[in-house]
Amino acid sequence: MPAELIDGRAVAARVREQVARDVAELVATHGQPPGLATILVGDDPASAIYVANKRKACAEVGIADHHRQLEAGASAADVADAIEACNADPQVSGILLQLPLPAGLDGTALTSTIAPHKDVDGLTPISAGRLALGAPGLRPNTPQGVIELLDSYEVPLEGAAAVIVGRSQLVGKPVAALMLERNATVTICHSRTRELEAVCARADVLVAAVGVPHLLGAEHVGRGAVVIDVGMNRTEEGVTGDVDFEPAADRARLITPVPGGVGPMTIAMLLRNTVSAARMQAGQGDRERPS
Ligand code: NAP
Repeated sequence: MPAELIDGRAVAARVREQVARDVAELVATHGQPPGLATILVGDDPASAIYVANKRKACAEVGIADHHRQLEAGASAADVADAIEACNADPQVSGILLQLPLPAGLDGTALTSTIAPHKDVDGLTPISAGRLALGAPGLRPNTPQGVIELLDSYEVPLEGAAAVIVGRSQLVGKPVAALMLERNATVTICHSRTRELEAVCARADVLVAAVGVPHLLGAEHVGRGAVVIDVGMNRTEEGVTGDVDFEPAADRARLITPVPGGVGPMTIAMLLRNTVSAARMQAGQGDRERPS
């Protein structure tokens, strides 16, 4: 029997509705909405679209827009100054430096200058370290979106065999850490993993974050598994995932489509992180407060 679809658009819409209510509550209690500073350097068309989508999503839930546009020729000091100004601005709750930066600028080094309590992308070394330590902190958006999808479909993680294919700082590693936090038994696979099929086929929850179209097929999916496909690969046929959907869906219990699965969750979780950061800065709730 084909798997049930995990509807990321519907889950993301519910998250956004809740964020809009949280924003209204913050305005009522503190007289000021949360604010997001997106920082875009240069004119890369894909980055411009991503940033425009994030700003539009903010506007829809009432998060204030503190966008900063820098010229393609901006120096590292220019970008650092923009980040520092946002770090110091009490109206800015969260800062997002859109990556990749133009050649010659070190995205990792510049990202690390974002104040941890405003790191709504969850990508600074401090946020990554806090996640690795199991300490409170702002978590990366796509990995949080994966957990939110699983929770929305009441997929039990405690004791589950979770296999994550991919070990990037952006997706694979933080997904693994979040699942470990939820007491899953986590296996991380990568390009040197032997017998990938057999390892994947043992998973109760299989997460693909690879960037190779249709790498995982029916033989990687155990009967009744839950399959989360983070992959977003641009091909001649359009955007496809890392999982060969039809054969995998014949074996899985639940599966995300691409598009319409994990993708919509990323911005939804960015909005939620911005509210969490604003609450923390307003002295409400301390889950993300760095010590
Ligand atoms: P990445 O940094 O390129 O990492 C890819 C990972 O996959 C690496 O750990 C690599 O192993 C592993 N890998 C590559 N080929 C493999 C193979 N044949 N077998 C097993 N593992 C293999 O990619 P990423 O940033 O994590 O992104 C992964 C995918 O998610 C991409 O399609 C990306 O577009 C998508 N993505 C989607 C969203 C969203 O919002 N939906 C957000 C972020 C990323 P090594 O470490 O050994 O090289």
